[in-house]
Amino acid sequence: MVSMKICVRMCICCKNRFEQKNLLRLQYLNKKLQKYTNYGRSFYICHECLNQQNNKKLLNSILNICKTKDKEKILLDLKEISLDSTKSTSM
Ligand SMILES: [Zn+2]
Repeated sequence: MVSMKICVRMCICCKNRFEQKNLLRLQYLNKKLQKYTNYGRSFYICHECLNQQNNKKLLNSILNICKTKDKEKILLDLKEISLDSTKSTSM
Protein backbone atom coordinates (compact mmCIF):
# COMPACT_ATOMS: atom_id res chain seq x y z
CA MET A 1 0.00 0.00 0.00
CA VAL A 2 1.32 3.38 -0.99
CA SER A 3 0.36 6.25 1.21
CA MET A 4 0.38 9.57 -0.53
CA LYS A 5 1.80 11.99 1.94
CA ILE A 6 0.70 15.51 1.15
CA CYS A 7 2.83 18.15 2.71
CA VAL A 8 0.55 20.89 3.98
CA ARG A 9 1.83 24.21 5.20
CA MET A 10 0.21 27.37 6.49
CA CYS A 11 0.43 30.77 4.87
CA ILE A 12 1.65 33.27 7.46
CA CYS A 13 -0.71 35.91 6.12
CA CYS A 14 -4.17 34.39 5.54
CA LYS A 15 -3.47 31.34 7.77
CA ASN A 16 -4.97 29.08 5.17
CA ARG A 17 -3.39 25.71 4.61
CA PHE A 18 -2.07 24.71 1.22
CA GLU A 19 -0.01 21.99 -0.30
CA GLN A 20 3.61 22.92 -0.05
CA LYS A 21 4.01 23.22 -3.81
CA ASN A 22 1.36 25.93 -3.93
CA LEU A 23 3.20 28.08 -1.47
CA LEU A 24 6.25 30.22 -1.71
CA ARG A 25 8.92 29.38 0.80
CA LEU A 26 10.78 32.44 1.95
CA GLN A 27 13.33 33.40 4.51
CA TYR A 28 14.85 36.50 5.95
CA LEU A 29 18.60 36.27 5.76
CA ASN A 30 21.25 38.95 6.02
CA LYS A 31 18.55 41.61 6.25
CA LYS A 32 17.05 40.51 2.97
CA LEU A 33 13.78 38.77 2.30
CA GLN A 34 14.42 36.08 -0.26
CA LYS A 35 13.51 32.63 -1.48
CA TYR A 36 14.51 29.84 0.83
CA THR A 37 18.10 28.75 0.40
CA ASN A 38 17.80 25.42 2.25
CA TYR A 39 19.45 26.91 5.27
CA GLY A 40 17.98 28.46 8.37
CA ARG A 41 14.45 29.37 9.30
CA SER A 42 11.77 29.77 6.70
CA PHE A 43 8.11 30.57 6.35
CA TYR A 44 5.41 30.23 3.69
CA ILE A 45 3.14 32.61 1.87
CA CYS A 46 0.54 31.71 -0.70
CA HIS A 47 0.49 33.21 -4.18
CA GLU A 48 -2.82 34.86 -3.53
CA CYS A 49 -1.41 36.92 -0.69
CA LEU A 50 1.75 37.64 -2.61
CA ASN A 51 -0.13 38.90 -5.62
CA GLN A 52 -2.23 41.33 -3.67
CA GLN A 53 -0.84 44.78 -4.09
CA ASN A 54 -0.28 46.78 -0.93
CA ASN A 55 -1.18 43.89 1.28
CA LYS A 56 -0.69 45.42 4.71
CA LYS A 57 -1.54 42.23 6.49
CA LEU A 58 1.14 40.37 4.58
CA LEU A 59 3.67 43.09 5.23
CA ASN A 60 2.89 43.12 8.94
CA SER A 61 3.08 39.33 9.16
CA ILE A 62 6.48 39.38 7.52
CA LEU A 63 7.77 42.23 9.66
CA ASN A 64 6.63 40.32 12.69
CA ILE A 65 8.28 37.06 11.69
CA CYS A 66 11.50 38.67 10.51
CA LYS A 67 11.63 40.88 13.59
CA THR A 68 12.37 43.94 11.53
CA LYS A 69 10.72 47.32 11.11
CA ASP A 70 12.23 48.06 7.74
CA LYS A 71 8.96 48.16 5.78
CA GLU A 72 10.36 49.69 2.63
CA LYS A 73 13.10 47.12 2.26
CA ILE A 74 10.67 44.25 2.80
CA LEU A 75 8.25 45.71 0.26
CA LEU A 76 11.05 46.03 -2.25
CA ASP A 77 12.19 42.47 -1.66
CA LEU A 78 8.59 41.24 -1.89
CA LYS A 79 8.17 42.94 -5.24
CA GLU A 80 11.32 41.29 -6.50
CA ILE A 81 10.15 37.88 -5.30
CA SER A 82 6.71 38.26 -6.82
CA LEU A 83 8.14 39.33 -10.19
CA ASP A 84 10.49 36.40 -10.05
CA SER A 85 7.74 33.90 -9.23
CA THR A 86 5.43 35.11 -12.02
CA LYS A 87 8.33 34.73 -14.42
CA SER A 88 8.98 31.13 -13.43
CA THR A 89 5.30 30.08 -13.42
CA SER A 90 4.69 31.43 -16.91
CA MET A 91 7.36 29.21 -18.42
ZN1 LIG B 1 -2.11 33.58 2.09
